[in-house]
Amino acid sequence: MSNSLVLVINSGSSSLKFALIDTVTGEATLSGLGECFNLPEAVVSWKVNGEKQEFKLTGLEGHHQQAIDRIVTLVDELGMKDSIVTIGHRVVHGGTKFNSTVRVTEQVMADIEALSDLAPLHNPAHVLGMRAAAKAFPTLQQFAVFDTAFHQTMPEKAYTYAISKEVSQQYNIRRYGAHGTSHYYVTREAAKRINKPVEASSFISVHLGNGASVCVVKNGESIDTSMGFTPLAGLMMGTRCGDIDPSILEYLLKKGWTPERLHKELVSNSGFLGISGLTSDCRGIIEAMEAGNHDAKLAFEVFSYRAAKYIASYMVALDELDGIIFTGGIGENSLPVRSEIMRLLKIFGYREDVAGNEAARFGAEGVISQADTPLAMVIPTNEEFVIAQQSMALLNAEA
Ligand code: ADP
Repeated sequence: MSNSLVLVINSGSSSLKFALIDTVTGEATLSGLGECFNLPEAVVSWKVNGEKQEFKLTGLEGHHQQAIDRIVTLVDELGMKDSIVTIGHRVVHGGTKFNSTVRVTEQVMADIEALSDLAPLHNPAHVLGMRAAAKAFPTLQQFAVFDTAFHQTMPEKAYTYAISKEVSQQYNIRRYGAHGTSHYYVTREAAKRINKPVEASSFISVHLGNGASVCVVKNGESIDTSMGFTPLAGLMMGTRCGDIDPSILEYLLKKGWTPERLHKELVSNSGFLGISGLTSDCRGIIEAMEAGNHDAKLAFEVFSYRAAKYIASYMVALDELDGIIFTGGIGENSLPVRSEIMRLLKIFGYREDVAGNEAARFGAEGVISQADTPLAMVIPTNEEFVIAQQSMALLNAEA
């Protein structure tokens, strides 16, 4: 008999990612992407036996529903429909309302919508996805897994910005963090690798992808993280600036910039892309750097230096450290970035194991620090597996 499958949905405003996750192995039996929603070229595509197939969506609206309806037909054709036991949705922002995974109800959808102020592009789109999935799979329970929930354990000193209490309370301004499911997953895997209960472990988890964040996880709980009020804060990213002096915003506004232009600049034109003027993709940056491009080298250096600074700053949050964990597309694959970060952390005793660093890539985990030096390792993340497992656990608990 085949294992149970969870349909994991990540519904955005103009796209919808989906995957059928095996709840035992964490493997994606099927995955695909709907994109260009609300445009004439809207399409949903997936791979079967390595071959890409696609289905064009019609009209200029209702594409979330059309995409999910096509997924129902697809899983039916592939004989997988009856193995799907529940649906798990990735939700970007749960505010302070949600500190764990919940079953999707009318009230939960209303609460997610009410938090749209904090994630205007994402939260309304998640609810669209939930409504479409409820129509398409009327007999299945759905669950919402929040990117922010894992960070709700941060102490007040970590989530408080040094602004007046009046303003922070009136506007709910505080650190919320993101990438919670990834930091949760890799720290649990890391604890298994060192044979410690996660409840007695301390890790610094470094997720470096297009989005990037560092999280310090003590006894299995997030106690600080670099993303803040929004995922724009902290590390430099593919197109996001990360931390900058807030006065720059005021300065540009006074120069006549609109809030919309400012937002686009900091979210979409900054980071690797902004500094290099070439690309947001780390591979392209490294290629250009190796070919002698000054700005690509600078982008690489700013990125690695910022990541190392965050890791170093989180040492103060811990009494002991079991290991640093690299994950995300760059953390799992980029030898030069990991090598540079290890070099920058040498004052803490970190020493790269060159062969270990070379071996840990393309989905292979491994230790990248030399024996008898502080531990640094690579663990490929699997956010969909966490969403599937947590949805499944709650489904079973409520049965
Ligand atoms: P997202 O945050 O969108 O999920 P990913 O975690 O997939 O992003 O990470 C994308 C980043 O990973 C890109 O910058 C890409 O260049 C980088 N990356 C993927 N493979 C490699 C590789 N082999 N070497 C260096 N960087 C890589």
